[in-house]
Amino acid sequence: MIRNPIPWPNGARCAVAITFDMDADSLIHIARPDDSHDRVYPISMGRYGPTVAIPRILDTYKRMGIKQSFFIPGWCLENYPDAVEAILEGGHEIGHHGWIHEDPIATKGAAQAEAFAKAMDAHRRICGMAPRGYRAPVYNVTQQVLDLLVENKFRYDSSLMADDIPYQMTTPQGSLYEMPVHWGTDDWPPFAHYDEIGYLMPVKGPSEGLAAFWEEFEAAYEAGGFFMLIVHPFLTGRLARWRLVERWIEKTMAERDVWFARLEDIADHLDGLKATGTYAPRVEKLPYFDGPQR
Ligand SMILES: [Zn+2]
Repeated sequence: MIRNPIPWPNGARCAVAITFDMDADSLIHIARPDDSHDRVYPISMGRYGPTVAIPRILDTYKRMGIKQSFFIPGWCLENYPDAVEAILEGGHEIGHHGWIHEDPIATKGAAQAEAFAKAMDAHRRICGMAPRGYRAPVYNVTQQVLDLLVENKFRYDSSLMADDIPYQMTTPQGSLYEMPVHWGTDDWPPFAHYDEIGYLMPVKGPSEGLAAFWEEFEAAYEAGGFFMLIVHPFLTGRLARWRLVERWIEKTMAERDVWFARLEDIADHLDGLKATGTYAPRVEKLPYFDGPQR
């Protein structure tokens, strides 16, 4: 059970968001900056995302009449304008995902502020608007990042794990929503096989790897909750995996009471509920700590 289920629009029982992080080959450039430009295999693995998987994914969304959220590093916005244009043309949302997928724990202080601002500039220039949502590369939100989000008037973050359903975070500077992630609905554990960046997972077969996600959905649906996939075009957008996801979307839309939504639509919905006093999200107060705990 969930103690404080969110009343979803039109009596839907569960909100569903399939969110893609279009990292493309930014991952190899940030991991191996000295010679990544000549590592053709991982570049090709990443390029599969914007060039082959994104058109396939967008085609499914168009056919099913749904709009979803994508998170894209600023460097990728610059290097893959066709994919970006197609995503925006479909009415989908693009959120901030760092400049070149720098880990906020490894890129702190002035370097983080600079990378964050560079990505903001790319969003304004290429997408024509400031992003409303943020997902930290490798989920590594720091207090500095939260402060930057509040300062830049972001509506939500989607990197943290303190609840099953969207909640609110307050900091001394302001507040924002959290659209919570977790590893059980992320495609990295079942499908990532990437020695150069330190991951060698035993790759699961498409139905086996995805089965864990669908079990998560059943629990969220039963509890009246929130089901979000955190997936990557170059992993879950591959032919056999996406074929199964597509079938799941079709079946779920036909047989269940679900609301497929962009994360910004969920933020709007929460704003509306709060304004009418219908619902109050659970609040997490940050920072959690103001110094080392020993
Ligand atoms: Zn990423």
